[in-house]
Formats: sequence, structure tokens, C-alpha cells
Amino acid sequence: MPNRSMPKFPEPDTQPFWDATKNSELKYQQCNTCNEVVFYPRGMCTNCGSSDLAWKTSKGEGTVYTYSVVRQNRNPAFSDLGAYALAYIDLDEGFRMLSNVVGIGNPLTDVKIGQRVKVQFEKQDDGEYPVPLFVPV
Ligand SMILES: [Zn+2]
Repeated sequence: MPNRSMPKFPEPDTQPFWDATKNSELKYQQCNTCNEVVFYPRGMCTNCGSSDLAWKTSKGEGTVYTYSVVRQNRNPAFSDLGAYALAYIDLDEGFRMLSNVVGIGNPLTDVKIGQRVKVQFEKQDDGEYPVPLFVPV
């Protein structure tokens, strides 16, 4: 398993998101004023500017919006991975996040735009917080 960079706390906007990963939960926010879905986590609504945001738990299922295959990464945390798929995932609750599609044989041929995927959490050898990644459904 790679040792990905971990968030550094205190960081009030994203700490609830990372804390939830310990329970294998994918959190996002929704505005209590205008109902806008907000992701990545932050202190204010991206639509109306309200700071009245509620934390919600995603079912973790979505669709590949687009992707790219990284063939070589010089960052030591990723250097042993070989080729891997970096993808934008459209979650069914209405937010888009950047992640990896894993659990596939060949990232050059096994990832497709529109493919259904679901979240799984990857524990890090040296990291406190599991990282949300996606596998084909
Ligand atoms: Zn709003």
C-alpha cells in the first residue's frame, strides 16, 4: 500500500470528512439555506455563501466522469504503483471528487467514462486516515 500524504490538523473545514473515513464513511456537505451540495468540504456554501452547512453521508456510489492513467509517478508514495487510474467520480448525491479507480487488472483498458463505481477505503501503513478510492461495481 502506498503511504499517501495525510492531512495536517487542526484544519476545521475537512476534519469531519477525515474523521468519518475511519468509519468507512464518505462525507459531503449540503447547504441548509439553499440545498446546494458542497464538495470538497469547506466553511461556506459555494452557491449562496451561507456558513450553515450540514454534513451528510454518501452511499459511496457513482459514475466515472473522466479519467487519466498515470504511468509513472516520481513521488515516493506512488512510485511502486506502476500505472494507475486517476479519475473524477460523480457521486449519486451530486458532487464530484478526484480519486483513483483501483481493483482493476489494467488501468489502460479497464476504466471507462460512465462506468459505475463504489467507494472503498484504503488504510495507509503509516497514516491515521484511510483514503477513499473507488472500485468497479
Ligand atoms: Zn447555499
